[in-house]
Amino acid sequence: MAKKESKQKFERPSLVRGMKDILPSDAFYWNYIHNKVFKMAEDYGYSYIETPILEEKNLFVRSIGETTDIVEKEMFSFVDQGGDRLVLRPENTASVVRAYNEHGMVSQPQPVKLFYYGSMFRRERPQAGRYREFHQFGFEVLGDDQAVNDAQLILIAHNFFKELGLNTSIQINSLGNPVSRERYKKELTDFMKSKRNQLCDDCKKRLLKNPLRVLDCKNDTCNEITLDAPQIIDSLEEEDNKHFTQVLEYLDELEIPYNLNSRIIRGLDYYTRTTFEIWPEESGGTRQSELGGGGRYDGLSELLGGRPTPAAGFAVGIERAINLLREKKIHIPGQETPDIFLAQLGDVSRRRALKLFEVLRSEGFSVYESFSKDGIKPQLEIANRLNIKIALILGQKEIIDGTILLRDMESGAQEVINYQKTVSELKKRLSKVAHNNGVKIIQPGGDENEPSG
Ligand code: AMP
Repeated sequence: MAKKESKQKFERPSLVRGMKDILPSDAFYWNYIHNKVFKMAEDYGYSYIETPILEEKNLFVRSIGETTDIVEKEMFSFVDQGGDRLVLRPENTASVVRAYNEHGMVSQPQPVKLFYYGSMFRRERPQAGRYREFHQFGFEVLGDDQAVNDAQLILIAHNFFKELGLNTSIQINSLGNPVSRERYKKELTDFMKSKRNQLCDDCKKRLLKNPLRVLDCKNDTCNEITLDAPQIIDSLEEEDNKHFTQVLEYLDELEIPYNLNSRIIRGLDYYTRTTFEIWPEESGGTRQSELGGGGRYDGLSELLGGRPTPAAGFAVGIERAINLLREKKIHIPGQETPDIFLAQLGDVSRRRALKLFEVLRSEGFSVYESFSKDGIKPQLEIANRLNIKIALILGQKEIIDGTILLRDMESGAQEVINYQKTVSELKKRLSKVAHNNGVKIIQPGGDENEPSG
């Protein structure tokens, strides 16, 4: 038996469908976005929260809603060895609310402002911009029902994309409260009854279970049928209407353009009042590449067994943001080439170079090396390939003379400089480069940290 098994062909493990590796060539996008999110959170006073990827299945069944696509079809769920029904989180808001309740954040000064950043999992059909593991960051304001929160959240989402150099449009709607929403659902179902046969198969089912979802179906025919449907905005109660008007007034004040869009009902059941999505500006009215979305979820805490806690938030898909940056060929800081290539020849020089690297790094220079290479030629080829403007070369002769060679990689001109003046000479050269291109800004610290030879 064992013999037979050993003959079986070993299948090389491969990437699970819908997952992806984030490769070094993309790392600067990820770093850039990560830093931007954390900086924005600091600017706006949001604290970081990280909840586990694994949660009880019930958390999402209760919060997102049993009849939603996510809960019905898309959760990676399993029963573990101990019989617990678990899922890989499909989104993070429900977990944040669970944590808020579980850790008694209700007794902190309200509102509590939290942000998160991490992977979510949905077993959707993979396609461009749609993965089974994807990353989101989100901002949540818990414990306050004021419209100003909704507006500031929209402002943060809008600013995030603006600062990335991406133009977006805000699509906004209000779903009112659960009672008026039920009334509206009935109105919508009545309107749709005579058109039922023309709807796609999914929408036929949605009409029975969750008619609002017909409004955000991506099928063209369903879209056309619902063009004349009654609008939820017209069935809002006075208080909800007032809240929505306030949100819009704040946005006007902030000069954030928005489109009133009655189709923004969001896939999740827990939304109340404001809902919004962020679309790429040129998406021509389609939502396939929607970048983010959010809204108010005043009833979610109670749904999860907590105290009534009004709250609002949004989530942005990081892969979608990166795809758009790439599509628009937007330059990202961090794509810059290193300032200096540090080349060495021979064992003693290699040891000296290893130490010099540390001095240069502590001075704020970005330095690249290839210490494992022996010849100068292959090292300079790397410097050329990376488009590095200055190479420092340390060989046996330089070690004996207490010097170092500074090579201008464009002209090939080489100068011998005093080893102990390396830092100040580099500063002179690099500020000249900065001046000439008007781009590169390097302001390393003082000169006191020259290498000792
Ligand atoms: P949602 O949690 O459904 O409101 O989604 C918020 C944002 O997450 C969306 O606007 C997308 O940018 C992103 N997103 C949602 N699902 C996926 C997915 N399957 N793959 C990539 N990004 C996604």
